[in-house]
Amino acid sequence: MKIARFEYKDQLAYGIYDEDAQEYIRLLGDPLYTGFETTDERVPAAEARLLAPVIPRSKVVAFGRNYSEHAKEMGNEVPGEPLMFLKPNTSIIGPGHAIVLPPQSQQVEHEAELAVVIGSVARNVLAADAEQVVFGYTVANDVTARDLQKSDGQWSRAKGFDSFCPLGPYIETEFDPTKGAIGAQVNGKVRQVGDLDQMERSIGDLIAYASSVFTLLPGDILLTGTPAGVGPLEDGDEVTCAVEGIGALRNPVVAA
Ligand code: MG
Repeated sequence: MKIARFEYKDQLAYGIYDEDAQEYIRLLGDPLYTGFETTDERVPAAEARLLAPVIPRSKVVAFGRNYSEHAKEMGNEVPGEPLMFLKPNTSIIGPGHAIVLPPQSQQVEHEAELAVVIGSVARNVLAADAEQVVFGYTVANDVTARDLQKSDGQWSRAKGFDSFCPLGPYIETEFDPTKGAIGAQVNGKVRQVGDLDQMERSIGDLIAYASSVFTLLPGDILLTGTPAGVGPLEDGDEVTCAVEGIGALRNPVVAA
């Protein structure tokens, strides 16, 4: 089931995407908190303006260097323990919304990632039980100011600018995260190519690790690392991150 969050007739709404009809079956409320109760209303996809499928009330938890080929291209090794950091929820934007290049950076790069949407309160979850706390999966772009990431020594600024976490287009609630193509294109040219089966640590391991540190709440997002091929974004570009079976997340890039 593909769940969308969108604006329709100046209202925030949620719907289940009916791909054949190109319509959303409107839901009664936010399915993360109120379940999947449907209404009789159908919204034509063309009249809905997609938004980020979720804005976490709490946090975006991200993992670095979870694909060895990407770690290698950056001159790094896969770390002995997961490399975890946070992005502010204010960095989230939806499909079609602009990634804004901040004046503080000369080198902003795309990172296509599988995003996990947490569905229930999770603390000290075992990797084997992690599936139980997952609501679904979507696509993310862990936009990064590479120069600031290197110069700052820690990553809050480099990863935290407004618009540096595009999410969408949908949450897929039935998805096998152990395999499937993941990649990024800029202006239609292929940049990143990978497969989810190249992850060094499984989704279960990442949820177990994060939930051993802090409590995960419904709506929290986990970014699971990026495959090789990251590269620069320039004013006027269009970047597309995609995961097979979920969809494509397209964003224009503009200078501040
Ligand atoms: Mg990343």
